[in-house]
Amino acid sequence: MGETTTVAVLGTGTMGAPMARNLAAAGHDVRVWNRSRDKAEALAGDHVTVAASPGEAAADAEYLLTMLHDADAVAAVAPGALAALPHGAVWLQMSTVGLDGSRRLEAIAAEHGTTYVDAPVVGTKAPAEQAALTVLACGPEEVRAGCEHVFDAVAAKIVWVDGELGGTRLKLVMNSWVIALVEATAEAISLAEGLGLDPRLFLHTIADGPLDSPYAQMKGAMMLDREFPASFPLRGAEKDAGLILEAAREAGVDLAVTQAVRRHLARAVELGHGDEDMAATYHSHRSS
Ligand code: NAP
Repeated sequence: MGETTTVAVLGTGTMGAPMARNLAAAGHDVRVWNRSRDKAEALAGDHVTVAASPGEAAADAEYLLTMLHDADAVAAVAPGALAALPHGAVWLQMSTVGLDGSRRLEAIAAEHGTTYVDAPVVGTKAPAEQAALTVLACGPEEVRAGCEHVFDAVAAKIVWVDGELGGTRLKLVMNSWVIALVEATAEAISLAEGLGLDPRLFLHTIADGPLDSPYAQMKGAMMLDREFPASFPLRGAEKDAGLILEAAREAGVDLAVTQAVRRHLARAVELGHGDEDMAATYHSHRSS
């Protein structure tokens, strides 16, 4: 166990709650704040103090960690925390907010003279619980060792990416792959059912071969069972599809698959599946 630092965690949802728990388990002093206070209260205990406001959480913190839904949510709460942060503290922005969102938040950090580290994560609820996330980070060389000390409590792997907002750029690439894979799984299972086959045959036939993927097996099993406990909430996947398309437009890249996936995710939200796992995109195939 390394040196103890004080970390303010804003956002204790699906991802933020286990991350805060693991920071405390690693011996850090953790201050948590969440808009719905009950979710933060559930974490109170050894090394975890519940704060009444973002500013109260940040007041004696060396690191500010944000893990909120989107850029609007982060932009709404970060200024109160940044104004209270001690001089020299570092902001670890770990929510998925896209390129425009990250630029906006980086500007807010600059207004407060705070070092901004762009650090979105790969991995869903279970890797967050197991401290096995992958952090895709971009930030100044001189703060990296300190940041790694905090990341080590929540992650199995840290990838430093150079260039403007490299962490967010790589995160968008990773999520384009993830959402396409889940959509392709939903499509194959729906097609198998439509053609009168037992859809288990699809997962059985790819199993253990070069076409297999643990993710396809995991999400495919949810589709077969019609049970979608949220690991990566579908509403978040829809938001991410929009962020990927926004970045692709700026880059002049045509992403036909992501466009189709976004339509399906939006349809699944309309059908009432936004709070379920993204695998519930399966329903959009059955109803269209
Ligand atoms: P979540 O369970 O839906 O939690 C969202 C958090 O944002 C909650 O703390 C929520 O507060 C807060 N929030 C939303 N709108 C807000 C606002 N306007 N003001 C203040 N707080 C607000 O989401 P999550 O799955 O933990 O995801 C958090 C971030 O990590 C997202 O950017 C997501 O894209 C990213 N991410 C998620 C996964 C995953 O698999 N779940 C994986 C990698 C990255 P309340 O509790 O009050 O609603």
